[in-house]
Amino acid sequence: MELDDHAEDLASDLGVDKEEVKSDLQNLVEYSVPVDEAKQSLRRKYGDGSSGGSGSPSSKEIGDITPDDGNVTVTGTVLTAGKRSIRYQGSDHVIVEGELADETGTIDYTAWEDFGLSPGDTITAGNAGVREWDGEPELNLGESTSLSFVDESLQLTQEIGGEATLADLQTGDRARAVEVAVLECERRTIDGRDGETEILSGVVGDESGRLPFTNWDPAPEIEDGGPVRIENAYVQEFRGVPEVNVSEFSTVTELDREIEVGADTTTMAVSEAVATGGIYDVELVGNVIAVRDGSGIIQRCPECYRVIQKGQCRTHGDVDGIDDLRVKAILDDGTGTVTVVLDDELTAAVYGGTLDDALEQAREAMDQSVVADTIRERIVGREFSVRGHLSVDEYGANLDAERFEESDDDAQARARTFLEAVEKVAEIDDGADAEEVDA
Ligand SMILES: [Zn+2]
Repeated sequence: MELDDHAEDLASDLGVDKEEVKSDLQNLVEYSVPVDEAKQSLRRKYGDGSSGGSGSPSSKEIGDITPDDGNVTVTGTVLTAGKRSIRYQGSDHVIVEGELADETGTIDYTAWEDFGLSPGDTITAGNAGVREWDGEPELNLGESTSLSFVDESLQLTQEIGGEATLADLQTGDRARAVEVAVLECERRTIDGRDGETEILSGVVGDESGRLPFTNWDPAPEIEDGGPVRIENAYVQEFRGVPEVNVSEFSTVTELDREIEVGADTTTMAVSEAVATGGIYDVELVGNVIAVRDGSGIIQRCPECYRVIQKGQCRTHGDVDGIDDLRVKAILDDGTGTVTVVLDDELTAAVYGGTLDDALEQAREAMDQSVVADTIRERIVGREFSVRGHLSVDEYGANLDAERFEESDDDAQARARTFLEAVEKVAEIDDGADAEEVDA
């Protein structure tokens, strides 16, 4: 549904001006508030407490809540409570997000008011809104929710506090606590929502793996290189992979133990890796079955460095392109395919020459595509082991390669062995002398 349709919907439900609702809605959506949540909060603003449900809220156990429940009354223990700042109608609001659990299950919640929730608290939330997010129910605790703390403690199997390893973390996680080594860290200036601001970004690691991070309010403990304990981190997808976000509300403390960073990259089948929806640092092994267009010599925009076509940048229009080398190769391991993207250095290595060599070859042939053809001859039909960052979006799966090496296994030798075995079986079927089989 388009924003316009949502606005129409709301306006007729609430009996208010559509344009007014639409501009509110637009505002919220621009600040990454999911459209369902935005609609619900506008229903509250314009005085419809029902949030699409009917009757008075019934008491429910967490495991029984479905996205169809309009409002519920629920008792549970707060597993995690993480603050995060969002911008709503031009000003910053602090919300609290986390998980609530009882003996029957766990549910994500967002508290739009400061109820003073801490991990371990058991609460009864009367008239909590239920919304659907990614097919799952979530709780909205807001103005119309009556919240009380209860003394009773629940018999929970779930762990309180949000401790996690990096391998556990998934996009959408809130209020997680991790203990990590800082593997890479740089200070950068970005154009934030309040103008230029300095952030730290890099890579953290623990026994289970590595993940990129952004620290929005530079913590000296991280910049000093760690190891650190980070409490109240949240996980957001950035360029297709989960990223640890350390905000002004996160707590960073120096650790006095060393963190062993798992050296082994996870090797996965292509289908398995793609099914994760994006993974940082993975190894795939497969055959290169094709080299795609946009490989070999390419031109980039001097302003934004994105690849341009015929001297046209999508953002900057007519530009004088910068020559660069790149390969987009399709890797197939029998379970699925990914597009492996090689940067200039890896491309130069498989091409067997520098950018200048490539330009020279293209000049002599009076055709740039000879460079891609040379690369094609060198890698198509061979088996490679590729390590890098996998992102998955609507256009497919891309692996930004950090390493691209021909497999240790000699694929051709294996093919030969396989063919010989097949031939021998055929001979046996033909009634040939069985002694030949061992020859
Ligand atoms: Zn550009």
